[in-house]
Amino acid sequence: MSKTSSEYGKVYLVGAGPGDPGLITLRGVECLSRAELLLYDYLVNPAILQHVAAGAEVICLGRHGRDRIWPQIEINATIVEAACAGRTVVRLKGGDPAVFARGAEEIEALASAGIQWEVVPGVTAGLAAGSYAGISVTHRDLASAVAFVTGQETPDKSEDVLDYGALAEFPGTLVIYMGVTTARRWTSALIAAGKSPQTPAAIVRNCSLPNQRSIRCSLSEVPDRLEEKDRLRPPVIVIVGAVAALDESLNWFEQLPLFGKTVLVTRPIHQVEAVARPLRALGANVVVQSAIQISDPADWQPVDAALDNLGRYDWLVFSSSNGARRLLNRLCQRGGDMRNLAGVKLAAIGPGTAAELARFHLSADLQPEDFRAESLASALESEAADRRFLLARASRGREVLADSLNACGADVDQIVVYDSQDVATADPDVQTLMDDRQVDWITVTSSAIARSLDHMFGGQLGECSLASISPVTTATLRELGLEPTVEAKTYTMDGVVEAILSVTQ
Ligand code: SAH
Repeated sequence: MSKTSSEYGKVYLVGAGPGDPGLITLRGVECLSRAELLLYDYLVNPAILQHVAAGAEVICLGRHGRDRIWPQIEINATIVEAACAGRTVVRLKGGDPAVFARGAEEIEALASAGIQWEVVPGVTAGLAAGSYAGISVTHRDLASAVAFVTGQETPDKSEDVLDYGALAEFPGTLVIYMGVTTARRWTSALIAAGKSPQTPAAIVRNCSLPNQRSIRCSLSEVPDRLEEKDRLRPPVIVIVGAVAALDESLNWFEQLPLFGKTVLVTRPIHQVEAVARPLRALGANVVVQSAIQISDPADWQPVDAALDNLGRYDWLVFSSSNGARRLLNRLCQRGGDMRNLAGVKLAAIGPGTAAELARFHLSADLQPEDFRAESLASALESEAADRRFLLARASRGREVLADSLNACGADVDQIVVYDSQDVATADPDVQTLMDDRQVDWITVTSSAIARSLDHMFGGQLGECSLASISPVTTATLRELGLEPTVEAKTYTMDGVVEAILSVTQ
């Protein structure tokens, strides 16, 4: 029995935007999270795939020069087949799905198979290139129209179908897509048709990405700049027209303080975003290599026993945000709630840990000024004698706190609420960046991370600038024979970012 179209899955043609993963629409993200099959183009930034649900099938349709490129007919057939089998399909395309993206061919295939579809627009590269190079493509005084033009006619068209006479006369900005290999042809065609060779032009490569490059020149210089002088490979947009002469100081993106700098962020994977986001906003190319892997403790039993007897403790002390989150989650998972903590005072080692407590609507009764175990210990000393302390900690860590409290006559129980292990080897792409000396900064946000990085990269660490989170971490780096370039003034992730900024501005 043949299926009716109501049993078919729907197909979403989604624009991923020009490169920066933040430039996809909310609707696009919603579609990605619902996809059962996702097919994406080589131009799509793989960082966008974070929105795809676990278990979805994800297919890359090939990167030029690296993999097999899927022919259009095969893409169409795969989409149609999956939708007919009832699957929700997302076809993710760079930029906008309807701008030089063969979206129409896919839509025709869907329409003739009776499959429903939706087109989710995206930020097309031609507009993003202008925005990210400080060029308003329809600047009120300079251009009243804008034209998207392909530099690459389909190979089966033997002659130019573009009317260069009309384009040369066009009263506005020309935005050329796919014009790298054909630059000599289209620039000379425009000039032959009467466009002044002196017309201002802007070449923008990898727009909105940390490795964006933009060049201002004249129309007649475009081929030389692309082919010889600067050797820019695709993807490139060329903006031609008076707007391309706008003041280069308007190029806000390439002037961001960390633009052009690669920063390696080394926190456990679920904590990366807190530091990656501000760094990206400052223009940095953020690369992630977790140095520590965090997982459940080998044995929950001692934790559960402590949770069942919380009432016997005077103080519950958290020396990391991971410890706080994991212990409180465990409490809730076992059917408890925050009332179990009534009567127990809470201490947090620093603002990150206090912020984690705040997520559970708890406020710390004590937080030392300078976020160190020693300070936490001395702040608690006066309270310690004959009091009962529960310390929630990692499988490894310093004994300073427990030792000092014991010395003051406290009764201290320690429970391991998470297991912390070094990540043994770096991701091959990160290792290549290190080998090629492409990493400018490494954030070193704990002593354990410092030691793990030392195992992972050895002498290569000394070739990068190291940003240490605190004097304790700095001391560990020095033990390893490494001198940090900066040390955070406040011992938090924001402090690390500020410290890097203080020497790059
Ligand atoms: N649908 C896409 C265009 C696909 S055609 C869109 O709407 O943007 C591929 C061309 O897009 C490339 O050859 C280049 O001209 C342009 N392009 C895509 N991403 C780009 C980027 N990040 N920087 C500069 N040009 C880009």
